[in-house]
Amino acid sequence: MIGSNISPSEWEVMRVVWAMKETTSNEIHSVLRKEMDWKLGTTKTVIGRLVKKGMLNTDLQGRHYIYTPAVTEKESVENEGRALLSQVCNKKAGSVIAMMVEDAEIGQEDIKVIEDILYTKRKLAPKEITCECIKGQCSCHHPEEYTLLENVEVSLK
Ligand SMILES: [Zn+2]
Ligand SMILES: [Zn+2]
Repeated sequence: MIGSNISPSEWEVMRVVWAMKETTSNEIHSVLRKEMDWKLGTTKTVIGRLVKKGMLNTDLQGRHYIYTPAVTEKESVENEGRALLSQVCNKKAGSVIAMMVEDAEIGQEDIKVIEDILYTKRKLAPKEITCECIKGQCSCHHPEEYTLLENVEVSLK
């Protein structure tokens, strides 16, 4: 299943571990303590969840646990992006991407990369995109297409 797998707090911790490459709970806590207003216990709980999820490796060295990332920042960011696009109708994906391009602070180099992608895509893209959503989950479908849902609703009354 494609879906977001990382909560906002977990994301904060992962960013520290990606930046440090190898770190301890105290080090993670010292980075996030102030901004996040976390107690050490909070930091440790979030770290524990990430270890359970297989996103952090843990290694006991002496009396300290050393944490290293088990997933790369790049693949995690890409997964989040895909998860977001999987939550909207194919027909609305274009406007989500347009909004992101509009809002993002990007430089000349980034724009060149995006332009090249669009140039290639333009040659292959279909004229019209088909909606593959569950009937009743998006407005592309006409109400008569999901009379089955209406029947369920009636039977619940
Ligand atoms: Zn759709
Ligand atoms: Zn739709």
